[in-house]
Amino acid sequence: MKAAERLSGAVKFKTVSYSDYEKMDFAEFSAFLSYIEKSYPEVFSRLEVKRVGEYNLILRFPSGSSSKKPYLFIAHYDVVPAIEEEGWPHPPFSGAIEEGKIWGRGSFDDKASMIGLLEALELLLGENFIPCRDLYFAFGHDEEVGGVRGAVEIAKYFKEKKLSFEAVLDEGGAVSSGSALGIEGDVAVVGLAEKGSSTLRFTFSGDEGHSSTPPKHTSIGKMAAFIKDVEDHPRQARLIPSVEAMLRGIAPYKNGFESRVLSDPDKYFFILKRILSKNKQTAAMLRTTVAFTMTEAGQAQNVLPRTASCVANVRVLPGDSFEEIMAWFYSFKHDFKIDVLLKEEGTTDSSVKSRFYTQLEACIHRHFPEALPTPYLVTGGTDSRHYKDIVDNSYRFLPCRVTEEELSRMHGRGEYISIENLNKMIEFYADLLRREGQNV
Ligand SMILES: [Zn+2]
Repeated sequence: MKAAERLSGAVKFKTVSYSDYEKMDFAEFSAFLSYIEKSYPEVFSRLEVKRVGEYNLILRFPSGSSSKKPYLFIAHYDVVPAIEEEGWPHPPFSGAIEEGKIWGRGSFDDKASMIGLLEALELLLGENFIPCRDLYFAFGHDEEVGGVRGAVEIAKYFKEKKLSFEAVLDEGGAVSSGSALGIEGDVAVVGLAEKGSSTLRFTFSGDEGHSSTPPKHTSIGKMAAFIKDVEDHPRQARLIPSVEAMLRGIAPYKNGFESRVLSDPDKYFFILKRILSKNKQTAAMLRTTVAFTMTEAGQAQNVLPRTASCVANVRVLPGDSFEEIMAWFYSFKHDFKIDVLLKEEGTTDSSVKSRFYTQLEACIHRHFPEALPTPYLVTGGTDSRHYKDIVDNSYRFLPCRVTEEELSRMHGRGEYISIENLNKMIEFYADLLRREGQNV
């Protein structure tokens, strides 16, 4: 059986995660793990296998005697729901293989990565490969809903075992068009850090009563004034190391003044700030952002609501503390009560000088010779953040080429991965792992 068929089989399991864990169909998760075990007999007979809880899987490829710090490779096998079957060229859990693609929810995000790693391991075991350091692989089952029972539990297990890692590799970057960065060719973006996600609810009080005799400002009016104030006064832009590394990395591919500005981002930040703020993606790399996502107020058209509340999702730039963000909201001097619904700060920046990054970069040059390896800041969230206390460096990169359209399909309709991309992923992982062989 080929890798594509094994991935197709993996897609057929409805391993959908929900914030309400009660809604999860754990029989599918169990069946998925049994399927994986059956599909990779060499891996499961020769590597150490450990389950953390019932649904998280850890594999250890022991080196024998090495005292080098291990590497960790992670992926998640839960998927987001596929609510509308309409608009899918093939049903979302069919795993159909057609037009050189494997179709279905999770075919890309992130079962491809898990299958890619397992395929690479199966290849290496066939070559009698023995690593020069312990290699760990960890697969969580709830990344899409925060990783609380997955990556968080796995990290806790590692901590109990007093294990720490020199590097972790997760999803979060890929090879894509460099247009957002003003680069003509492709870029292979490797996430060195990621923003935190915090959620706050602000509640405003006002007079109750009949709408025919209103006060000057109702609770809704107070809330609206606050929202406008925050939106009009974004947090100050700041240059952090991962973004600085990104700009410096692009510099040689630009000409004249542009190149000069990019190669000294600190000095020319006043110019770069203006340029990067024009694109939503790059703008988000410069500051902690606030997005008001929900509001609640009022029950009837002619009754003044006593309270109005709004929810803000705050994406915290590495280096900004949660306390600073709270103080910043209070500095607007509006009268509200805050409830913290989710509290998470950004991660620290990983190094571009580590051995792991050097090897990653070498593999990018070899497998994607047309792409420029570029460090960057991940503005979303990945499981790797849960390992931050036990790893020296976290890198986020899926070795495949994605288009804008493929990206939007990942959580949308018609998700697929091309067989070409899947094979590339396997070759890339195998190459990266081989570099940690005892004979290298
Ligand atoms: Zn994912």
